[in-house]
Amino acid sequence: GDRGVYNFAAGPATLPESVILKAQSELYNYRGSGMSIMEMSHRGKEFDAVIKKAESDLRRLLSISDDFAVLFLQGGATTQFAAVPLNLCKPDDPADYIITGSWSDKAYKEAQKFCKPNVVWSGKSEKYTKIPFFDEIRQNPDAKYLHICGNETIHGVEYKDYPEPKNKNSILIADMSSNFCSKPVDVSKFGLIYAGAQKNVGPSGVTIVIVRRDLIGDPQPITPVMLDYKIHADNASLYNTPPCFAVYICALVFEDLLDQGGLQAVEERNAKKAGILYEAIERSGGFYVCPVEKSVKSLMNVPFTLQNSDLEKKFIAEAAKEGMIQLKGHRSVGGVRASIYNAMPLAGVEKLVAFMKDFQARHP
Ligand code: PMP
Repeated sequence: GDRGVYNFAAGPATLPESVILKAQSELYNYRGSGMSIMEMSHRGKEFDAVIKKAESDLRRLLSISDDFAVLFLQGGATTQFAAVPLNLCKPDDPADYIITGSWSDKAYKEAQKFCKPNVVWSGKSEKYTKIPFFDEIRQNPDAKYLHICGNETIHGVEYKDYPEPKNKNSILIADMSSNFCSKPVDVSKFGLIYAGAQKNVGPSGVTIVIVRRDLIGDPQPITPVMLDYKIHADNASLYNTPPCFAVYICALVFEDLLDQGGLQAVEERNAKKAGILYEAIERSGGFYVCPVEKSVKSLMNVPFTLQNSDLEKKFIAEAAKEGMIQLKGHRSVGGVRASIYNAMPLAGVEKLVAFMKDFQARHP
């Protein structure tokens, strides 16, 4: 069944059609239980199987070793901006932040309440169009961790490679909300990875945290129990009621990603999709402009403007009329943004590119 649109939203975002249809078929009476997932105990056998499978499939997708805990939490990635320093720092501990866009900036600002974060590089003066060369970053040798945002959802800059913390006791931490499971990642290079689910892997309401077990268990005394990683790890994400339905959808998505051949295959498809879109922008003779430096252009979020900004509204409205929806850029930056997460089919991007060429031809 085709829903008649291609949805370019930045998040909550399009999910695989097969997953939505499967959830629909299981919604009313989950596998003969007489209940939907959202009506049953989180400690019953059905949900227990769901959350265990979600975890084991995610471990397979990203080859996550048992040195790491995998947690399904609530509060969005925004809650992790506080949970990270609360769990890993004392109030006077320094921590390094690379600011490549709005999301890493928000993480840094929240951390100011709980530790002594330090901006070691900022792309603000260049309007967040770059990722630093790693030797330009002035790391503090005493920092507890180096925090990055793996993909800036608003500005469309994405790390293709990762910096190493300077000191061997420091760890790399990444917010991967908007490129989680879009490509293989060597988890062993990180101390902690977190991601809100609602871009690539599920609905809003669940946030995934992958954290090295030896780092947790010594949070600041003020840490609310809901933000204490050790508590959640010791209770297999069932310390309190988890976001059951959201975890269930993630489980369906992880299974689908494995069926598609895993993250290497997923990355190849994503690179192809992003490639044709960036090429269309580059070959438009300046009609469309993407300000992001070429080598760090995001495979997930493609922001662009029209040379004649008066045409942007019309572009977005006409695209919507043709079934390409939610193309408006973030309210803080304007312009157009095409989010092309895993579940956006190649045909959706091809249709957008054809529309862009046609729109340009009609506005010489
Ligand atoms: N980090 C990134 C990279 C994001 O894209 C977002 C949401 N757009 C957030 C953090 C905040 O996530 P949440 O809304 O789940 O708190």
